[in-house]
Amino acid sequence: MDKKINSKKPSTLCIHEGNVEDTTFGSTVSPIYMGTSYKYSQSENRYPRYFNTPNQEGLSKKIASLEKGEKALVFGSGMAAISTTLLSFLKKGDHVVFQKDLYGGTTNLINKVFKNFGIKYSLVTSDIESIKKAICSDTKIIYVESPSNPLLKIIDLEKIGKLGKEKKITTIIDNTFASPINQQPIELGIDVVIHSGTKYLGGHSDISAGAVISTTQNIDCIHEMAKNLGGHLSDYTVWLLERSVKTLSLRVAKQNENALKMAQFLSKNSNINKVYYPGLESHEGHEIAKKQMKNFGGMLSFSLKDNVNADLFLKALKLIPVSLSLAGVESSILQPHLTSHVLLTDSERAEQGISSQLLRFSLGIEHIDDLTNDIENALIQL
Ligand SMILES: *Cc1c(COP(=O)(O)O)cnc(C)c1O
Repeated sequence: MDKKINSKKPSTLCIHEGNVEDTTFGSTVSPIYMGTSYKYSQSENRYPRYFNTPNQEGLSKKIASLEKGEKALVFGSGMAAISTTLLSFLKKGDHVVFQKDLYGGTTNLINKVFKNFGIKYSLVTSDIESIKKAICSDTKIIYVESPSNPLLKIIDLEKIGKLGKEKKITTIIDNTFASPINQQPIELGIDVVIHSGTKYLGGHSDISAGAVISTTQNIDCIHEMAKNLGGHLSDYTVWLLERSVKTLSLRVAKQNENALKMAQFLSKNSNINKVYYPGLESHEGHEIAKKQMKNFGGMLSFSLKDNVNADLFLKALKLIPVSLSLAGVESSILQPHLTSHVLLTDSERAEQGISSQLLRFSLGIEHIDDLTNDIENALIQL
């Protein structure tokens, strides 16, 4: 790792690190290399599915520097990054400890695919004691998300990292909700960091991508599996994502600010039962979040009081779209029980605290007054 490069601040790295130099014309921005055919040599053969085109390597370097990792790979989706990473560390008979409240696609992958390959796993609650208890002699991976979806639960990453090192178990975090601007898990002792680049890294709701960041040794191992599974990102999209990451720190700073203001605003509204945001002192993970996050992120959830009709409330919103996904420059809101958690049974949802009154809110970069006005006006109409 180049210490001098990594000592630069994230906002600088977003812009200057890993750009592809234009040696022909001297353009300030990276040229796009769309080629699928390169001169071959004994040392290196470039090919998009080998994850080593100039643009893929440049963006990987930028993302690795933001997460303070030695190396990274960029993928065609978050799930491509997650599945490739898990399969590169696991074989038949191995065991994984997963946190229960994972991204729905990850839960689906585990439940539908792992059994067929003889990979064992435990799904446990988001606390270190439950994770410790689930570890057995075959455990190869501990896999967590913090803040988690949709209740923004916080897990102590330093403790997870330490536990992994003690037991010689690889620790992996899906860091999508925090973004590398708010949380750098490698510094806290976590081995592997994964992102759905479709969210904050892309940030404009128009790119599907994924990334994994770790040591050279781990990434080289994931790279071998990645070439076999072929979940790479096309060079044009790599180039677009590089462009998006240039504004990552600006966007996330505004999203952090808007989310905190919105959480405070919602906490004071009599139609709202509870607000889940790690930046609020009332949040059960607030103290740990303060310790391990640089800021609390752009995501929050809140539950409406039982007498407020959630469907009518969402219909009454004029500015904020009711839509899937998150982390765009536009704010968006959704009902987890109909979307990310629709595949769970009623009792599983109840156990995780996901009622039909719960709404997940992704804050964009609009002016906060327009956002709070939209919420207030929608509530007044009910
Ligand atoms: C969206 C998301 C994913 C999956 O990413 P895709 O790009 O949709 O494949 C994984 N983890 C989290 C936390 C997400 O929000």
